[in-house]
Amino acid sequence: MILNFIDGQYREGRAGQTFDNINPVDGSLIAKVSAAGREDVDDAVRAAREALNGPWASLKLAQRCDLLYAVAAEIDRRADDFLAAEIADTGKPHALASHLDIPRGAANFRVFADAVRNVATEAFTWHAPDGKPALNYALRRPKGVVAVVCPWNLPLLLMTWKVGPALACGNTVVVKPSEETPATAALLGEVMNAVGIPKGVYNVVHGFGPDSAGEFLTTHPGIDAITFTGETQTGAAIIRASAGGIKPVSMELGGKNPAIVFADADLGVTLAGLTRSVFENTGQVCLGTERVYVQRPVYEAVVQRLADAARRLQPGRPDAPGTTFGPLISATHQRKVLDYYELARQEGGTAVVGGGVPDMPAELRSGFWIEPTVWTGLSHQSRTAREEIFGPCCAVIPFDTEPEALAMANDTAYGLAASVYTRDLDRAHRVSAALRVGVTWVNTWFLRDLRTAFGGSGASGIGREGGVHSLEFYTELSNICIKLHGAEA
Ligand code: NAD
Repeated sequence: MILNFIDGQYREGRAGQTFDNINPVDGSLIAKVSAAGREDVDDAVRAAREALNGPWASLKLAQRCDLLYAVAAEIDRRADDFLAAEIADTGKPHALASHLDIPRGAANFRVFADAVRNVATEAFTWHAPDGKPALNYALRRPKGVVAVVCPWNLPLLLMTWKVGPALACGNTVVVKPSEETPATAALLGEVMNAVGIPKGVYNVVHGFGPDSAGEFLTTHPGIDAITFTGETQTGAAIIRASAGGIKPVSMELGGKNPAIVFADADLGVTLAGLTRSVFENTGQVCLGTERVYVQRPVYEAVVQRLADAARRLQPGRPDAPGTTFGPLISATHQRKVLDYYELARQEGGTAVVGGGVPDMPAELRSGFWIEPTVWTGLSHQSRTAREEIFGPCCAVIPFDTEPEALAMANDTAYGLAASVYTRDLDRAHRVSAALRVGVTWVNTWFLRDLRTAFGGSGASGIGREGGVHSLEFYTELSNICIKLHGAEA
C-alpha cells in the first residue's frame, strides 16, 4: 500500500479509503493507494504549520541549504528505487527516466539551495523631505505553508521543481501528487526522514481532484500559497475554488506548442529536435510540439523524415533493451488521444504514420499503447491543430513566408513554448522576439538551465518559476525603511 506521509510518518487515511495504482505498460495493479480525506489533509496542514514556526524556522539558512543538498545526495544514492517507482507508475523507458526524471529530481534541490544562498535583495538610500537620509532594504520571508499540486507526466521532476525552491525559501509543503503517479512523492518522505529534515516540513496526501484531496488541500484555510502544474481547466477550477482566501497562485498549465522550420534550417538538427519534442515521453510533455509549421521547400523532406523517426521508435517494456517508447498514462488518456486521432481523420487529416494502437505482444495488450502519429492535410483552424492532445502526434502544416508562420504560431490561446529551426541568426532573434510564449528554443528543444525563467503566457499559466523567479513566488518580500534622524542634512 502506498501511504500518505504526514508529520514525518507514513499513515493510512482515517476513512480507510483506497484507490488503485495501475501500471500503464500492462494494465496490472501496482499497489493500492491510501486516500487522504479532509481530516488527513487537516493533519498535514497542521503539521506543516507547526514545522514552519518551529524546527524549520529555527535553522540557519546555511543549515537548511546543507539539508537540501543532503536530500539531493540521498535521491542520487537511492536512484534505483526512485527509477523503479517512477517507471512502474508511468511506464516510461528506463533510459528516459534515468537520464531525465530522477537526476532532475535531485538537481532541483541543489539548484534552489544555491539560488537562495546567493540571491541579493534590494536596498535604497534616499533623503526624506526633511533632508535626513532613510535606508530602505528588503527581507525575504517564507510564504508559509505551500500546497503543491502535481501532474503525472514527469512526477518527481515537476514535484521537486516546486518543493525544492519552496523548502529552500523556508516554507513547508503539503504535496498532492497525481492519483496516477503517487509513488515517488511518497518515497521522497523516506529521504526526508533519512537526512533529518524536521517532521512536518514535507507532507504528502494522496487522492484525486474535485471533492478529494486536491480540492481539500487547495481550499484549505491553513494554506498560504498554491503552486500547481496541470491542465488549464484544472488551474481555472483551483483559482475559482481558492479565490475567497486570496491565495497567491503559481500556475504552470497546458500548451499547444508550435515549431517553425525554415527552409535554411539544418535538417539533421531539426529532425533531432522534432523527434524529441513530438514523441518524447509519448508526447506527454507540456512543452511538446503538436504543431509543426514547415517552409514549403523543405516540407516534404521534414514530413518524411519525421515519419521515419516515428517508425524507428520501439515500444516495449521500460527495461527491455532497445525500448524507446512507452505507453500513455491511463486508459482514460488513451481514449482521449484516440478520439483526437479519429477527429483528425474527420477533419481531413492523413496519418502519414501511426493513427491507432500498435500491435503489442499478448502480455502487453492490456497496456495503454498508442502509435506515434504524424498528420498532414490538417488546416491550422482544425480542432486537432488547436487543442492540446498531450499525445505523441503533430500536425505538419506548410507555410511560405515568415509573417505567415508567425501569425499561425501565435494564433492560439496558449503561450507556453515554441521552437524555431533556422541557420539565419537575424531571423532566429526576430522570430523568437515575436513569439508570444514563455520559452523559445532555437535549434533545440527542452534544454533547461534551471536558473532561467520558466512558465507560460495566456492560457498556459500565471507566473514564472526557475532561479530567482521561484524565489519571488516562494518568498514574501518585506521592505524595511529606517529613518536616520541623527545624521547631518
Ligand atoms: P490535471 O490538471 O488533470 O491534474 C493535475 C493535478 O491536479 C492532479 O494531481 C489532480 O489530481 C489535481 N486536480 C484535478 N482537479 C483538481 C481540483 N478541482 N482541485 C484540486 N486539484 C485538482 O493534469 P494532468 O492530466 O495530471 O497533467 C497533464 C496536464 O498538465 C497537461 O495539460 C499539461 O500540459 C500540463 N502540464 C503543464 C506543465 C507546465 O509546466 N506548464 C508541465 C507538465 C504538465
